[in-house]
Amino acid sequence: MKQLLVCILLVSSTHISLCQAPFIFTVKGKLEVEKLGFALPHEHVMSNFGADPEISAQYDNRAVLKQVVPYLNKLKSLGVKSIFDGTAAYFGRNAALLKSISTQTGIHIITNTGFYGAAEDRYVPNFAYKASVDSIANVWVDEFKNGIDSTEIRPGFVKLAFDAGRPSKIDLKLFEAGVLTHLETGLTLAVHTGNNLKAVRRQFALLKKHGVSPTALIWIHANKSDNDRQLLSVASSGAWVSLDGVDPYNIDEYVDRIALFKKNFLLHKVLLSHDGNSFPRGAAIRQYHAIAEILLPKLRELGYSEAEIHQLTVENPRNAYTVRVRSL
Ligand SMILES: [Zn+2]
Repeated sequence: MKQLLVCILLVSSTHISLCQAPFIFTVKGKLEVEKLGFALPHEHVMSNFGADPEISAQYDNRAVLKQVVPYLNKLKSLGVKSIFDGTAAYFGRNAALLKSISTQTGIHIITNTGFYGAAEDRYVPNFAYKASVDSIANVWVDEFKNGIDSTEIRPGFVKLAFDAGRPSKIDLKLFEAGVLTHLETGLTLAVHTGNNLKAVRRQFALLKKHGVSPTALIWIHANKSDNDRQLLSVASSGAWVSLDGVDPYNIDEYVDRIALFKKNFLLHKVLLSHDGNSFPRGAAIRQYHAIAEILLPKLRELGYSEAEIHQLTVENPRNAYTVRVRSL
């Protein structure tokens, strides 16, 4: 009732869209975030990483489906309902193929817009060096409004990335274009940053410059930083800390990390994933079921409540990726 009242008030003040249930765009269209369920916030269903840049990657579709569909069905049997796919344009994004995989498995897949500024900028298209921040943002906003690669598939987040060391001009420019895209679309910024605290600081400054809250930002590969103080301070600011390198051999490390956030009452800012890949170019599958199969049972054994598990696997990814402009 209270919610209805808020909606009626908002209708009269033109903010009609705020009355909608919170949503995201999957490769199959708009979805209420309530339906995302247990989500893996940073994986790669497939990628061409290592190959020459190509705006929309071509694959042997039959080979991809043959390898990926059974794997995703296995994940489904372990309770996973949604996967956020971090494979960006130019290193392997193929939205149409992701849609076929989603249709065949029933798993929600969310793809992205943005450019990948890590890997020494190998996957940054040439035009981005000369283009203005606004015109780069326009390319991404256009994908959001009109679809990716002549499909009607819309991105559900912005993927960006920083190389190690002093943040380069191009990485900062792409980030700023991401911030403008956020203001226009409400898409969350998932930023491959790793152990680059200088980059984190510059990102925060650019968010502030444009009046965007840190809650619009996901620090991808934050697990590569061993600076606990920094991790906690970023989480306290409202930004999302993505501990996304879980594998069967580092479970204890993740248990310790999660305990640190729990102790500091910041469990609600942690995202857990594997950075796995079910079709890596010329390599063996990098599995992404260790969270469901090993880490969660371990957390339960250690006394974590079902509410806490739900927070880590359902609520946090849902809240991080809900499409919504987050102003300061
Ligand atoms: Zn990744």
